[in-house]
Amino acid sequence: MSARATPYWWEYAGAPASPPQTPLPDEADVVVIGAGLTGLSAARTLARNGKSVLALDAAAPGAGASARNGGMIGGGHRLSLDDMEARFGPTVAHGLLREAHLDSFAFVRAVIEDEEIACDFAETGRFRGFWRSSEYEATARWLARLQTVIPLEAEMIPKARQRQEVASDLYAGGVVFPRHGALNPAKLVAGLMAAAQRAGATVQGDTPVLSLSRAQGGFRIETARGTVKAGQVLAATNGYTNAALPSLRRRIIPIPSFIVASEPLGENRVRDLFPSGRMIVESRERHCYYRPSPDGKRLVFGGRAALFEAPENFTTSALRGLIAEVFPDLGPIEFSHAWRGRTGFSFDFLPNVGQIDGVWHALGYSGSGNAMAPWLGHKAALLMLGDPEGETAFSQTRLPTRWWHRGRPWFLPFADALFRARDVAASFGRSA
Ligand SMILES: Cc1cc2nc3c(=O)[nH]c(=O)nc-3n(C[C@H](O)[C@H](O)[C@H](O)COP(=O)(O)OP(=O)(O)OC[C@H]3O[C@@H](n4cnc5c(N)ncnc54)[C@H](O)[C@@H]3O)c2cc1C
Repeated sequence: MSARATPYWWEYAGAPASPPQTPLPDEADVVVIGAGLTGLSAARTLARNGKSVLALDAAAPGAGASARNGGMIGGGHRLSLDDMEARFGPTVAHGLLREAHLDSFAFVRAVIEDEEIACDFAETGRFRGFWRSSEYEATARWLARLQTVIPLEAEMIPKARQRQEVASDLYAGGVVFPRHGALNPAKLVAGLMAAAQRAGATVQGDTPVLSLSRAQGGFRIETARGTVKAGQVLAATNGYTNAALPSLRRRIIPIPSFIVASEPLGENRVRDLFPSGRMIVESRERHCYYRPSPDGKRLVFGGRAALFEAPENFTTSALRGLIAEVFPDLGPIEFSHAWRGRTGFSFDFLPNVGQIDGVWHALGYSGSGNAMAPWLGHKAALLMLGDPEGETAFSQTRLPTRWWHRGRPWFLPFADALFRARDVAASFGRSA
């Protein structure tokens, strides 16, 4: 039987659905383009502060990455303290680390609680397995220094104790972040959309924004369903940024991520694979991320099987190979679901909140957004409101472009080959 091409999460949350279509208003204080976690969080904050908000999505709200991701939450960005301090100075660097590791997660947790979003949230913790043995000492040093700056909870796990976390010998030890968690991302999106609507925001799906132009007092937004005027515009389009936003498109690289759910394996087998029930991620360049399903019966396994939109049979068999590499004793398994989505990478791997030509944006999550996207959507909204609480270190990152990125990511197959070569090279140095 072939696997369904839709996310496993949708079996329990329902597929993302557009609210009933209503005539678009002629004007709104703010138009938000993109109704994933960023756009919906921004819409909620703006509406709670009295703005009339129209959040538009080209598809069903959440049908971008937000309702199809791996459902892991917690500081996913591997920011080097030394590198951040060298680039931004200590104040901004420490702000970036605090927001990425602590504030964003605390914010989403509070929203889940305050809005009573039932999204299978659990504080499972996350294990990051090291690809090279040299990473163990390096990470211990990084952690010791980071903990002088922010109170991040983490525990180094030597290889001798690794099987307490994951039934694999593939890694050279790792680190556990006990506060990281798990959720059903499609349920989070649905709950956030309901919260934004309750606050008074209008959310409309199946309404692509085609272009923007300056108008008196703001912008004219041409959509497939008519024109709307708005005082302010927020682009929340991350890996789905298209030609309607040409300046942003040159700054975001849409990199697909591929993911499968197994047919039920049984609770005992899954517990054997994940003895501590944690989320697992690897440190290798084209890393895998995997976890038990919320009911503890299946394996959900994702990875960058390719850096470009490769055919389904290629990516599914690549994931099958990766699963066998991680869990050589598992034997053949069937997939019930095999799907994909687009992450939005910035050239410096850092998200950014800011304005280009008067249009606000919050994007560039570079593969990790369940905490950061709602957080920076909220921060962008506060900045748009002129609220000093909107201050964020992520408005100091730069969202650079490259002269050779004009819009279409023609270079991804070449990057794919390069990263494959780097993974092979790293494999030779695995015990170094
Ligand atoms: C397979 C996969 C696994 C992942 N796993 C994890 C994980 O485990 N943990 C984690 O933290 N992060 C994970 N991520 C990343 C995370 O999902 C994203 O960073 C996050 O969802 C970004 O949210 P967003 O709202 O900014 O963008 P999206 O959810 O991608 O939403 C952007 C929206 O903009 C809309 N849009 C674009 N252009 C227009 C236009 N012109 N007009 C109208 N609408 C437009 C699109 O239709 C889309 O719905 C994963 C991503 C993928 C793809």
